[in-house]
Amino acid sequence: MPTDCLFCRIVAGDIPSTKLHEDDLVIAIRDITPQAPTHVLVLPTAHIASAAELTDADGPLLGHLFVVAASVARQEGLDGGWRLVSNVGDDGGQTVDHLHVHLLGGRPMTWPPG
Ligand SMILES: [Zn+2]
Repeated sequence: MPTDCLFCRIVAGDIPSTKLHEDDLVIAIRDITPQAPTHVLVLPTAHIASAAELTDADGPLLGHLFVVAASVARQEGLDGGWRLVSNVGDDGGQTVDHLHVHLLGGRPMTWPPG
């Protein structure tokens, strides 16, 4: 696990976070600069740089990640709907090179995003 990776350090507990879910495969933490009333990051505990690095073997991990995201959305009371976004690379707006999905909700959202 790269020790210079922010999210690996959060998984390890070296950097504090508000964890809404934690298991062997996936954690969910509040984003410290929320872009919506509810803004949670769901990420694998293992270091994967981005969605571009995924393989078919990661299918069960991704299924679990989506189940956790839906569970957190229920916990957060996002009964009207919510959005999952995963940014890839510089042009995609990825700011931490450890795969994560943004769970956004708490207000109506338009498509396409601004
Ligand atoms: Zn990492």
